[in-house]
Amino acid sequence: MGTVVDAANKEASGIVTDKKPTVVFVLGGPGSGKGTQCANIVQHFGYTHLSAGDLLRAEIKSGSENGTMIQNMIKEGKIVPSEVTIKLLQQAIQESANDKFLIDGFPRNEENRAAFENVTKIEPAFVLFFDCSEEEMERRLLSRDQGREDDNIETIRKRFKVFLESSLPVIEYYNSKGKVRKIDAGRPVEEVFESVQAIFSPKNEKAD
Ligand code: UDP
Ligand code: MG
Repeated sequence: MGTVVDAANKEASGIVTDKKPTVVFVLGGPGSGKGTQCANIVQHFGYTHLSAGDLLRAEIKSGSENGTMIQNMIKEGKIVPSEVTIKLLQQAIQESANDKFLIDGFPRNEENRAAFENVTKIEPAFVLFFDCSEEEMERRLLSRDQGREDDNIETIRKRFKVFLESSLPVIEYYNSKGKVRKIDAGRPVEEVFESVQAIFSPKNEKAD
């Protein structure tokens, strides 16, 4: 623990690199509209969008030593080890000039959540939860055609199972802390964004 004077000195000499950014976790099942709505939030509210899935896919493309392992896990709908994903998120936060981030599709299980908190000491301002029926999510995933190796019916079923078993408990955890803002995500994009906007508008932002 540094003193206030230490902190002031560090700041003056410009060696403070540990940012304490505002983070909103954006969670919901596969195909619930996280990426689509994050793009809208970026436009209207000046956040930087960090999709954990996109960061992992970029890591595969870059030919990193973890690439093959990540690719295999994504193909199976499994959750990549926390340290890999957290490192990518931390890097992206550090490299950005912004101090407001939407972290989309992470944390996906309790271990992700606890490890992120321990490593970064960041707690989310709140958690946006896109609530959508499996039937509707399946319809969207099968029709979106983004060339993703995991958008086939076999992997989709596995992703739904992982979401129910591992990711919903994370949402429950934050719900018990009063941090979840739940959105009915089964509606058209524009309608969903109206609900999203209401949450991000300053008078409603309960960023406690
Ligand atoms: N993934 C992961 N950890 C993360 C985010 C994604 O392991 O924190 C993997 C996981 O295999 C998941 C896949 O990446 O099924 C695709 O995630 P993404 O969030 O892109 O898909 P979505 O669920 O939004 O369709
Ligand atoms: Mg996504």
